[in-house]
Amino acid sequence: MSTVAEIFKTMEYGPAPESDKEALAWLGKHERVFGHYIDGAWTEPGDTFDVVNPATAKVIARVTNGTTDDVDAAVDAAKRALPGWRALSAHARARYLYAIARGVQKHSRLLAVLESMDNGKSIRETRDIDVPLVARHFYHHAGWAQLLETEFAGYEGVGVVGQIIPWNFPLLMLAWKIAPALAAGNTVVLKPAEFTPLTAMAFAEIVDEIGLPPGVVNIVNGHGETGAAIVDHPDVDKIAFTGSTEVGRIIRKATAGSGKKLSLELGGKSPFIVYDDADLDSVVEGVVDAIWFNQGQVCCAGSRLLVQESIQDRLIAKLRARMERLRVGSPLDKAVDMGAIVAPVQLERIKGLVQQGVDEGATMWQPSWACPTDGYFYPPTLFTDVQPSSTIAQVEIFGPVLVAMSFRTPEESVALANNTPYGLAASVWTESINLALDIAPKIKAGVVWVNSTNLFDASAGFGGYRESGFGREGGKEGMWEYLVRSRGTGRAASRRVKQAPSRAAAGAKSAARGSSSESPAIDRTPKLFIGGKQARPDGAYTRRIQSPSGATVGESPEGNRKDIRNAVEAAHAAKGWSRATGHNRAQILYYIAENLAARADEFAARIDAMTEVGRRNAAAEVDASISRLFSYGAWADKYDGAVHNVPIRGVALAMNEPIGVVGIACGDTHPLLGMVSLVAPAIAMGNTTIVVPSEPHPLSATDFYSILETSDVPAGVINIVTGARDTLATVLAEHDDVDAVWYVGARDGARAVEFASASNMKRTWTFLDDRDWLDRDEGEGREFLRAATQVKNIWVPYGE
Ligand code: ADP
Repeated sequence: MSTVAEIFKTMEYGPAPESDKEALAWLGKHERVFGHYIDGAWTEPGDTFDVVNPATAKVIARVTNGTTDDVDAAVDAAKRALPGWRALSAHARARYLYAIARGVQKHSRLLAVLESMDNGKSIRETRDIDVPLVARHFYHHAGWAQLLETEFAGYEGVGVVGQIIPWNFPLLMLAWKIAPALAAGNTVVLKPAEFTPLTAMAFAEIVDEIGLPPGVVNIVNGHGETGAAIVDHPDVDKIAFTGSTEVGRIIRKATAGSGKKLSLELGGKSPFIVYDDADLDSVVEGVVDAIWFNQGQVCCAGSRLLVQESIQDRLIAKLRARMERLRVGSPLDKAVDMGAIVAPVQLERIKGLVQQGVDEGATMWQPSWACPTDGYFYPPTLFTDVQPSSTIAQVEIFGPVLVAMSFRTPEESVALANNTPYGLAASVWTESINLALDIAPKIKAGVVWVNSTNLFDASAGFGGYRESGFGREGGKEGMWEYLVRSRGTGRAASRRVKQAPSRAAAGAKSAARGSSSESPAIDRTPKLFIGGKQARPDGAYTRRIQSPSGATVGESPEGNRKDIRNAVEAAHAAKGWSRATGHNRAQILYYIAENLAARADEFAARIDAMTEVGRRNAAAEVDASISRLFSYGAWADKYDGAVHNVPIRGVALAMNEPIGVVGIACGDTHPLLGMVSLVAPAIAMGNTTIVVPSEPHPLSATDFYSILETSDVPAGVINIVTGARDTLATVLAEHDDVDAVWYVGARDGARAVEFASASNMKRTWTFLDDRDWLDRDEGEGREFLRAATQVKNIWVPYGE
């Protein structure tokens, strides 16, 4: 007779299938063929393509391939719906979002089953993770809609939003996109991924059911070309994209100079770091969730296991034992751990990369059991003996393949973790809170999970650093992606700018009278300012600087590509600045202000000589610059992060981190204030900078060197290269060691910067030279601080 323990060990799982009856009935109701959902109505199906169930390889529906006409119709509907949607009270919009959340919950079973059938992911995941998170996202954002006017005062929705999503979390990505867009008062054209359009169709029905005004949400099916038509449409004001870095790069280039707002959530190769004191049983379950959740088709999957050498063998043995017990099978079986891979093309890609890993000499291990053969299945796979530079350690596989590498010290673990162009997420496993919170800020990733992995919530921002894209989804930080400064302010600004020439003309007389005697001697030959030292320009050229009336004011060096490279190097070398305390940075900003105040007259004379705005205006610009430096001295230790209220036993710490090395190309007006207004927030937040000052009026910047030299600004924190602004800005945008470029100037220059930024997907912030820098509302504040930082969410669960 066998004991209970023996029975338990030898017991097999019986099948526990979830019924697909309701989903099949729903498909039947639509005769298994779908058009688009535009302007509150279903379009007639056009040219269609097949939708396949990856677990059976059978066609389950057909959807229409959207044409440019379809996209035009959808954008047109969204545009027409915009005024009405905006005119609603925030409360009314909140109620619609709330109704959508209720609708999702009401149809949760249909949505979960449909998602499993369409994507191949297990019903356990769709039922317990995807769909509940979708509802949560709409509830949370109903809240932001309600609070829009108070929490985002001075801002308004950007307009018509184009959204393009991938196939790995079809409905969840839809929710991440649509909820904040609607909450911010925008209307939407969304394209689901071609592999997984069905839950978006079911969602359209929910939107219809709750009576959302026509045109507020439009869903157009199709392939990449349909997505490109949305990206290129002139009436789309913002693009939000989740998908591959490759397509993200195409979209960055396609939108360059268009003035469209852009957020990109791209690929990753996220580290899962295990220190020798970690609880290894929890680690094993963590790994299962990190890389075998959704068959590893997760942009933030913990696909690189970095383990401390002393525990490597033990952990690998435990992992293999656990893998042996994982179950791969029908996604609708409630007892499987892993379902099917989304499509043959993806399966082939995984197989190809695994073969490459083997060819490159790594050791591949898979469980002894075999996968079902009637669909696109792939077993959990573990690589050991992996070189950090090998293909499988660098390339995103987007499948159930884990690569393991070892490290000896925490420093080495950080270096290994950051040895990737990506920066989406990371997991850190240790029982030492000291170690965890020391490591988390050192990892270049938008999300860090401590002793946990793949945690998501609507209240916490999600998004990447570096080539994983920019922008955040979720949390207050995610709402900003869908908002712009109220346009009222912008118009007022351009009116004021139009008056500027007359001010200059008025000042011209006084300049002609007195400025030549008051301005510094012409024969001073300023240099560049690089690494805390004045440096001769590489090309040895200078240009003559003239006032509007033609008087020679001085000379400025003509910086070139080499000078920019040197400045970038110096800015990198100064990165210790990011670790200076806020208090320390504040002290230095105040010190700069103090030294500028001591030489206020001289700076005013120089501004007047260059711009002929008159001494009074010039003095006002110097005063405003001093005040601005004080403002960012004030902010340096006050721009706090947040503790997000996530639904776990624990906290998510949203930390504002500097972006890194920031290139700043200044506009033409307000040579001193325009520069200070950009440089001060950047350095206040811990960035180091390369500044290209006003091209026609660079001498306030070259005069500024001596102020920097006497204000304890560490070498390399501010580097200044004068010369042709647009050319130098483009060089900065092309440079792979520059993390962000800010550009003030004309549309052509902005386009060049945005286009070039695609090389390493650096962040850009471009705007036209029409800001009134003297106006505190326009010229300083949180908008600048947000641009100078990126939010890292560190999830810290607690309790036993
Ligand atoms: P994945 O590798 O995850 O399939 P893709 O980046 O290829 O990611 O696809 C993500 C989404 O982007 C899909 O909806 C796809 O149709 C769309 N897409 C693909 N190419 C383009 C393009 N050139 N422009 C806009 N959207 C595109």
